[in-house]
Amino acid sequence: MNSIIDLMKQNVVLGDGGYLIELERRGYVDSGSDREKVGTGRGSGQFTPEVAIENPQALRELHQEFLNAGSQVLQALTFFGTREKLNRAGYGAETENINAAAVKLAKEVAVNKALVAGSVSRTQLTEREGMSSLGKSRDHIAEQIRLLKDAGVDFLILETFFHLAEIKVALEEAATAQLPAIATMSFRPLITHCTDGYTPADCAKIMADLGAIAVGANCEQDPKRMLPLLRKMRAATQVPIAAQPAAFHTTDLCHSFTRLPAFPDDLETIQVSRSEFIAFGKIAKDEGIGFLGGCCGCNAAYIRSLARGIQQAQ
Ligand SMILES: [Zn+2]
Repeated sequence: MNSIIDLMKQNVVLGDGGYLIELERRGYVDSGSDREKVGTGRGSGQFTPEVAIENPQALRELHQEFLNAGSQVLQALTFFGTREKLNRAGYGAETENINAAAVKLAKEVAVNKALVAGSVSRTQLTEREGMSSLGKSRDHIAEQIRLLKDAGVDFLILETFFHLAEIKVALEEAATAQLPAIATMSFRPLITHCTDGYTPADCAKIMADLGAIAVGANCEQDPKRMLPLLRKMRAATQVPIAAQPAAFHTTDLCHSFTRLPAFPDDLETIQVSRSEFIAFGKIAKDEGIGFLGGCCGCNAAYIRSLARGIQQAQ
């Protein structure tokens, strides 16, 4: 298999979709919404990846569906898999097992057909405790990256970070571990600035300077609303752009779906149709997108739509 860097030189690389919301819809992941206001970052353990050890067959099946749809990269379901987040969900003692099992499952499905990326996301400490917690974040992120490297991932996707300061820590730890990393921020609540005040262009430049092999955005916005900020990133850096939009509509007043009242129990009312993902796949190459996948709300049908769009552009 070619490396992710080589693949991005050849064409748009197709990633996979959003695991946690799809598995929640299938009954395997806890949204936490019957206990707490989800989406604040202050809750106990919503949307955590224990499915990797509790219902591995469900996760294996979803990996297979994405592979069948054309994914060239499968992400191990290690999102929200730091010991910090898992502790609050009651699974801290399983941190090693969950990360190892998730990578093993992805590798079993991907064998010789797709690369396997480890997913590393924010700890939620920065939202809860502020910038003084960055040292603790570093320890948790470094531990998870070590576990992912030991489990044999091909590279990392650092995603759904709200603060540039925290993804900088993750990029530094990826470099220490000598793992290539794609780095994508989630812009929340605005698309003009991330939570700690940097523009998309600032973020792109700084992440690329820290060694990211591709930089971009994931989650929170649908393709149409994400495109303007991706263009600002494109103009600010030479590395490929990575995009993993959500399949949920946002509004002119609220640019992040996790802050809409529809999250999580009325998401079906704001679902974006697949045709918008065909259209996004068609323009990806012209927009300088090197890595294209889907985030929350994207099952295999959406990945197939991206694949069709990429093919139609050839
Ligand atoms: Zn998402």
